[in-house]
Amino acid sequence: MISVLDLKREYEALKTDIDAAIARVLASGAFVGGAEVAALEAELARYLGVPHVVTVGSGTDALTIALRAVGVGPGDEVITTPFTFIATIEAILHAGARPVLVDIDPETFNLDPEGLEAARTERTRAVLPVHLYGQPAAMDAIRAFAERHGLVVVEDAAQAIGARYGKGRVGALGHAAGFSLYPTKNLGAYGDGGFITTRDPQVAEAARSLAVHGQAGRYHHVRRAGYTSRLDALQAAILRVKLPHLEAWNARRREIAAAYRAALEDVVWVPREAPGVVHVWHQFTVRTPERDRLAAHLKARGVGSAVHYPAPAHLQPAYRDLAAEGSLPQAERAAREVLSLPLHPFLTDAEVERVIEAVRRFFG
Ligand SMILES: *Cc1c(COP(=O)(O)O)cnc(C)c1O
Repeated sequence: MISVLDLKREYEALKTDIDAAIARVLASGAFVGGAEVAALEAELARYLGVPHVVTVGSGTDALTIALRAVGVGPGDEVITTPFTFIATIEAILHAGARPVLVDIDPETFNLDPEGLEAARTERTRAVLPVHLYGQPAAMDAIRAFAERHGLVVVEDAAQAIGARYGKGRVGALGHAAGFSLYPTKNLGAYGDGGFITTRDPQVAEAARSLAVHGQAGRYHHVRRAGYTSRLDALQAAILRVKLPHLEAWNARRREIAAAYRAALEDVVWVPREAPGVVHVWHQFTVRTPERDRLAAHLKARGVGSAVHYPAPAHLQPAYRDLAAEGSLPQAERAAREVLSLPLHPFLTDAEVERVIEAVRRFFG
């Protein structure tokens, strides 16, 4: 079976260094925060080109804390996309604000800036674009809209570490961003983790405080209702082994995506990189009205696939109040048509060929 992801191959490739990093932490006796976490934050900041990185317990926490740190709270509205992992919506709700959904651009699956003006009210406080599947959202138009109306921009960069938009990397394109270090992401820990990026020292300080019980020094609490949201030293040490490989892994993802696109574009809708961006292909997602039959056909031929995501946020049972069915047609259609093919840096060329063969056979 060619699976959509293979984390065992990654560990095998890095085993000596990972095992040594784990042993180093165990011997140090420092398990939460400390030197490993500080070093990782500095290395991530350098890589992403942002002055401040604050590690936390998950990507969902990173988004929640980033929103609160930039000042989003009860009574505010945050404009976002319905076509995302549900954590994007949860973060807005955890911050006490209301998610307002704008439909996606069917070519990129990202927030369509054309819909922003109509979604704005006097309560709008922020825009939360998601760089879905590793492709940066249309940040020029989103930032222009935000500047026009004095709004903040918080990026959901969970799927897009390393992606570039013009000269900048995602995470450095708005007021703050949230990243996930969940094992399946392009840079993944061996457990949960996440981090916030920002250029603003006050936002960084607020995030650091909120993540640890709203404290500004031990047993001195200056912000209400903070969190226990920290990265542990074992995860930081593991991530420090992996970060130097990220560029090469993302380059391999780009190579595989280019091979899929070239070999499949005459039989099925294939994703494209928008002009001026570097896409990091967290997923390679095709679309076809015959999605479920294609998935079954691939499975029968030993090729895994996955649906990201089978329903937009407003059609999830818990979130029916966010928008009426039919009101966000592009997101609703994408949810019926998308299928992600196997794509990870440890796929062999022979496996890529087998995936291509299996997809082509379905259509032809
Ligand atoms: C993974 C993900 C998150 C949440 O990250 P966790 O670390 O799982 O909490 C948020 N948004 C998007 C788009 C994601 O893919």
